[in-house]
Amino acid sequence: MAGSYTISKEPRYEWRVGDEFWEDRERCEVVGGVVDVTIDVLKRGVGKVELGVEIEGEVTMPCDRCLGDCTLPVRWREEVEFEVIGGEVDLEQYIYESIILGLPLVKVHRDRGDCDPEVLKHLAVDL
Ligand SMILES: [Zn+2]
Repeated sequence: MAGSYTISKEPRYEWRVGDEFWEDRERCEVVGGVVDVTIDVLKRGVGKVELGVEIEGEVTMPCDRCLGDCTLPVRWREEVEFEVIGGEVDLEQYIYESIILGLPLVKVHRDRGDCDPEVLKHLAVDL
């Protein structure tokens, strides 16, 4: 994954972030998911580059209501300037944070019927 984010002369880059992206990430609740990342090079400057970033996909993480795995949509769009170091742009941390920011605010099964009924029975607070 790392090292593949070399921005050269191409105007557009596409990557698919897979399950392995989520392995070995500390304090990260996401257990897996496939997310497509599209990067358009908007402007090239000295030591910097302006990128149009589009992120779309789905990740799996614990539901805030029942703690079972739920699949959540991810959507993120942004234009952002990056520092270019040695001809490369380090996007891994940025992509990770953007996926987290692109998640819905309420991380629960969209359909309440998909939640674990055993857990819901014991819930004191109705989320
Ligand atoms: Zn649930």
